[in-house]
Amino acid sequence: MTVKIARNSGFCFGVKRAIKIALDAAKNKKDIVTLGPIIHNHQMVTKLENEGIYKVDKPAEINGRPTIIRSHGVEKEIMDLLEKNGIEIINATCPYVSKTQQVAKELHEKGFQVLIMGDQDHPEVIALRSYVEGDAIVVNNASELLNKKFKKIGVISQTTKHINDLEEIVKVLVSRCEELYVVNTICNATAVRQNSTTNLAKESDLMIVIGGKNSSNTKMLAKICRKFVETYHIETESEIDEKWFKAKKNIGITAGASTPDWVIVEVFNKINKCMGNNIEVDDINDIPGFKEE
Ligand code: SF4
Repeated sequence: MTVKIARNSGFCFGVKRAIKIALDAAKNKKDIVTLGPIIHNHQMVTKLENEGIYKVDKPAEINGRPTIIRSHGVEKEIMDLLEKNGIEIINATCPYVSKTQQVAKELHEKGFQVLIMGDQDHPEVIALRSYVEGDAIVVNNASELLNKKFKKIGVISQTTKHINDLEEIVKVLVSRCEELYVVNTICNATAVRQNSTTNLAKESDLMIVIGGKNSSNTKMLAKICRKFVETYHIETESEIDEKWFKAKKNIGITAGASTPDWVIVEVFNKINKCMGNNIEVDDINDIPGFKEE
């Protein structure tokens, strides 16, 4: 009976960076806020609260406090408002997200109808729209394009989406527009996680996907795993049911880009306990299959 983790699992570069920026800021300042959760993970948000970093949901709740901008960015209007009000901005927007915002702005300025492949309600997409003055078409996949025709269209993607869906959209658009400009803004961290998760799912009897139930990239990993094998998406070890592992030999674990290491370690140890393996680790680096990015 084996329990392995997908080679690239857990915190991505952008999330590691955002957490470091937040914790470094908390060393010198008291009472800092993040506008929205800094990452989509309840456990991490609670840990940050213990360090004096609190979440607020809207600018009106900031009350003059230094404000951390989360890894997936906020609307341009909000950045402008904070600056206007003299709020100290601690910008933890992931550089890949900032680049996507910049690309959206440039396409809009050059007269392209911007099409964003993404989830309408995802904070990253909401922020992206603000960089094109709200003038963007947002679709999740090619089937949502129906028989629409365009003159000049510029396609970008929410960073956590799947490349296959972007390819499908581009295929459909080619014959439906006069000019098509595509910028692949899907971040490498996402693709790398999706590939290593696919490889592990193919050789496993069961996959456990760890991460926030509202985390877009974790949900995508669960969707990929379900194509190959029985899959459970959990947030913490407390959701694990021993019955899942009956008659299973090879268990695979993967985790979204916003899942803290300690949560993954707890899940790994609990699965081994359920399977009767006498294995316990303290560090994610000791989980078979893991490779630091
Ligand atoms: S998933 Fe990619 S774009 Fe999003 S925070 Fe991580 S590194 Fe940045």
